[in-house]
Amino acid sequence: MSITVKALQKQGPDSPFEVVEIPRREPRPDDVVIDIKAAGICHSDIHTIRNEWGEAHFPLTVGHEIAGVVSQVGSSVTAWKVGDRVGVGCLVNSCGTCEQCRLGEEQNCLRGPVGTYNSEDVDGTITQGGYSQKIVVNERFVCRIPDELDFDKAAPLLCAGITTYSPIARWKVTPESKVAVLGLGGLGHMGVQIAAALGAEVTVLSRSLAKAESAAKLGAKRTLATTAEGFFNEHRGEFDLIINTVSANIDVDRYLRLLKPHGVMAVVGLPPERQKLSFGSLIMGGKVLTGSNIGGIRETQEMLDFCAKHGIGAVIEKIGVHEVDAAYDRVVAGDVQFRFVIDTATFE
Ligand code: NAP
Ligand code: ZN
Repeated sequence: MSITVKALQKQGPDSPFEVVEIPRREPRPDDVVIDIKAAGICHSDIHTIRNEWGEAHFPLTVGHEIAGVVSQVGSSVTAWKVGDRVGVGCLVNSCGTCEQCRLGEEQNCLRGPVGTYNSEDVDGTITQGGYSQKIVVNERFVCRIPDELDFDKAAPLLCAGITTYSPIARWKVTPESKVAVLGLGGLGHMGVQIAAALGAEVTVLSRSLAKAESAAKLGAKRTLATTAEGFFNEHRGEFDLIINTVSANIDVDRYLRLLKPHGVMAVVGLPPERQKLSFGSLIMGGKVLTGSNIGGIRETQEMLDFCAKHGIGAVIEKIGVHEVDAAYDRVVAGDVQFRFVIDTATFE
């Protein structure tokens, strides 16, 4: 028998969120049932449910920054027990046997990973995300939330945290690195904290200096306004690594010029529009332009442990279930410091 839970659902891209009841599957032997305590709002939720990335499957519940407590386990589950503090990010299943899954890179599963929402599940249903009271997830896709991290601060780590941690780790940021974080939103504010915890010199590249004080508190050495006159000439060739988190259309070529020779721009922001690029900006100085998609489960656990060890968490604004439509407009306007988190107790 399936479980019925309350969730926030949209009927179409332009309709408001409504609190409805949705079914969660009867836990399979290798499933874990999680009582969700906090659910972060990622800009990807907005791109998806507003149909900015293509047709979403409606009615739909989004949310892939999930923190909560295990309330039930399937008969073959040994890694988790009732009461465990856990998180779920953007993935809820993958084949588990392909080369990428065996490497721990489930996000690159060659048979296609199952996303936490708007994705076809192994049983043919469409997955429904974390703006909800409970979720049922395969045990392999659950991470442990260290006791040092409270649920509100931990939930956004499951997407914003791992998405910035992974390229910072891959491109081997050290205390000698000059790192720029482009766009200080949900992803950006985690990128700043993680790179700073590794000892790097971190610069925030934001549209204005409005967030400069907050950026400094997160560990940035300075904030530069990308709209300032002469900005692109003055800061040419300064950075080893730019983490590009921008969710909208920008002139990527101009930002590539801010890299040192052989510097790297790791793109994590996914604007709906096709982006233009001139090869000249890559060829001059032999720069690297790369992308990064969340991270595997093992690396997500490593990131959670890293954040706990370094006293890092998301800086959040907590909202009730009836405030999500207004919160979306504020995220798009860049008006949140730095992540909205839905208090699932307000479903009651
Ligand atoms: P967010 O909180 O809205 O932050 C995006 C930031 O981009 C804003 O704070 C703003 O920074 C900047 N920005 C927004 N509009 C801009 C514009 N028109 N011109 C220049 N800069 C602009 O979003 P998020 O949740 O961090 O997500 C960021 C992007 O990453 C989204 O596209 C999301 O879908 C994507 N994403 C990708 C992955 C992945 O695995 N690769 C995972 C999660 C999210 P300032 O105000 O500082 O200028
Ligand atoms: Zn996300």
